[in-house]
Amino acid sequence: RTVYVNGDYVPEREAKISVFDRGFLFADGVYEVTSVLNGKLVDFAGHMRRLRRSLDELQMRMPCSEEELLQIHRKLVEVNAVAEGLVYMQITRGAADRDFTYPESATPTLVLFTQARPVIASPVAERGARVVTVEDLRWGRRDIKTVQLLYPSMAKMIAKGQGVDDAWLVQDGKITEGTSNNTYIVTADGTIVTRDLSHDILPGITRAAVLNCVRELQMKVEERAFSVEEALSAREAFSTSATGFVCPVVEIDGTVLGDGKPGPVARRLRQIYIEESLKSAI
Ligand code: PMP
Repeated sequence: RTVYVNGDYVPEREAKISVFDRGFLFADGVYEVTSVLNGKLVDFAGHMRRLRRSLDELQMRMPCSEEELLQIHRKLVEVNAVAEGLVYMQITRGAADRDFTYPESATPTLVLFTQARPVIASPVAERGARVVTVEDLRWGRRDIKTVQLLYPSMAKMIAKGQGVDDAWLVQDGKITEGTSNNTYIVTADGTIVTRDLSHDILPGITRAAVLNCVRELQMKVEERAFSVEEALSAREAFSTSATGFVCPVVEIDGTVLGDGKPGPVARRLRQIYIEESLKSAI
């Protein structure tokens, strides 16, 4: 694979980053993951908007223009012949002598790589995901997409240890989000409920697109926190993320939702989201 590091396209084995990079020492960096369908980028503009916001919150600057970032994404997709998969992009504050305060002048480190893999055909989406709830012990600024992902990794390992697909994180009895996705339930009267945006969750790009779609279809939707109890008695549940699209959830903490099969709302939204993404990808 060819990867991109600070201006150069190089074979992955030749890519080098300083041991003093603050991404490595402090997790002082942000990232974005954009999915690729038919060799095209899904909702690139949305990912750029969130990237700018993450950088602003950390007083970091864009390493180059948005147009240049688009060209780098496109070139990597092309040279690595990615028909379906994703582009991962990471920006760190750069290398500086180790100190907690931000360095006055450091050149941001920009790294991108691709992963070619099926994203539309998904065994988990077909059968529906099984999840367990795990206490949300992450920090208080989950709205910033930082590379500090150790707790989500731990939570995912807990889920794996219990033989299920993912963990839904819980704070004060209410679901915040999944380890790497936003979460939804459908109540008995058919209302889609998903947690409102705040410092507690990441503002998902897929979440925004799916909520737009839900409003266009005039489906009932509420943005509010929901409890574990409410989730266990939901008619159906699902999650959204850039690479998982809309993924049905059929079991929470061993409780089977509905008939244990992916629900109609999740299936419909998955189909519509994929169709729209195929149409609008650039
Ligand atoms: N929440 C968390 C914690 C995530 O890591 C992700 C995926 N990066 C999401 C939600 C979903 O965001 P998006 O739809 O932009 O992929």
